[in-house]
Amino acid sequence: MSHPSTATRLSAAELCARLIRFDTSNYGDGRSAGEHDIASWIHSALKHAGYAAQIVGPEPARASVVLRVPGEDRTLPALLVHAHTDVVPVEPSQWSVPAFAGHIADGYVWGRGATDMKDMVASILRTLLNWAEHDIRPRRDIVVAFVADEESGGEHGAAWLVQHMPELFTGVEVAIGESGGDAIELVANDGTPLRVYPIATGERGTLQLRIHARGTGGHGSRPQADQALTRVIDTCQRINAYEWPLRLTDTVREYIATIDLALGNDPQLDTATGIASSIQRLGSAGEVAEAITRCTATTTVLNAGVKVNVIPASAEAQLDVRCLPGTEDEVVATLVNLIGDDVEWEFLSRCSPVTAPYPSHWFDAMRAAILTQDADAITPPVWLGGGTDAKAFSELGIACYGFAPLTADSAGRRPGGAHGADERNPVEAIDGGQRVLEQFLTHV
Ligand SMILES: [Zn+2]
Repeated sequence: MSHPSTATRLSAAELCARLIRFDTSNYGDGRSAGEHDIASWIHSALKHAGYAAQIVGPEPARASVVLRVPGEDRTLPALLVHAHTDVVPVEPSQWSVPAFAGHIADGYVWGRGATDMKDMVASILRTLLNWAEHDIRPRRDIVVAFVADEESGGEHGAAWLVQHMPELFTGVEVAIGESGGDAIELVANDGTPLRVYPIATGERGTLQLRIHARGTGGHGSRPQADQALTRVIDTCQRINAYEWPLRLTDTVREYIATIDLALGNDPQLDTATGIASSIQRLGSAGEVAEAITRCTATTTVLNAGVKVNVIPASAEAQLDVRCLPGTEDEVVATLVNLIGDDVEWEFLSRCSPVTAPYPSHWFDAMRAAILTQDADAITPPVWLGGGTDAKAFSELGIACYGFAPLTADSAGRRPGGAHGADERNPVEAIDGGQRVLEQFLTHV
């Protein structure tokens, strides 16, 4: 294991590879590995560079690292940059390389966390080391948070910090974090290569529900009318079959239209068919568009029964509902209607959607930083379909953007394998992304 003091000599991609060698698997239900070790290593590397970071968390095993770098102008609102150090577990048999070896080969950094999101942790770290080495102070105060437990909802990471140490974020007006700012490569109708860097100005809310019912149990050969399981299934069916209305917000309209126009098409976004055709034409940039043009509700857990000839007296289901910014109350009202009176229900968790101002000088600064590394970049706003630690930090009134930049690879390599096997990220993308990030954090 290399000593933290060697961090100063490593590029962002090399730092990413180094950080992958900490197995920081988050198994959920409060079980995790390695977050303490990675936090100590980062803390030591920062200390060696002259920074006084703090290791914080509910217990030593769930350590996060937080640091405030004073800006040139301390009267300006501060900016938070956050990235999580934990990763999702691996199924080693599915991998063609060891998941925690942190190899660099064929122009890629390989291993769990290479894209989600030790690349960003490394880019932030490299930026801090560059500042220390060249005696640079950012324009405004920059608060840095390397947090534990994002992959399991952040209860022991971001949410804990927000609840127990909000003073660390005093004066922070805006944050940047996971997803957004990474290059998507497309080809226009006339063959021109396009590079789109969507910057996230919001994310859908996460409403997790448990519905449950009690009924008369008994012998499987003598079914009763009020079976708990049937009532739960019927309720889930109604929710699953419901067609959530198409909702094209200004942000999502701009996202789709900007890219479709750049491809050389004529987007017609006033009808459902027109929207669907545009999204279809966006290729890989269309996947996220699909998730942010409507709300979704999915039954993910069903629990009932112990034996085939026994009618269960109780049953439960869990549902994962995602609502677009501005629709939360309406979605809850619709769910109440769909659920009806046949079953009981409650929220397992309720995290409201997050949005950040757009247009804004913050957004302009992110766009400008990307353009320093890729002069032809197209930078539309986007929303995220899922959730990140932004949900926790937004509780403090912080406006959260998704901006974890990665540039395009000149040989066409692409990041891949997030949450799956053979996770990898091009070396060039990480190092280019780090330059974007440093440009932004220094000058914003
Ligand atoms: Zn992540």
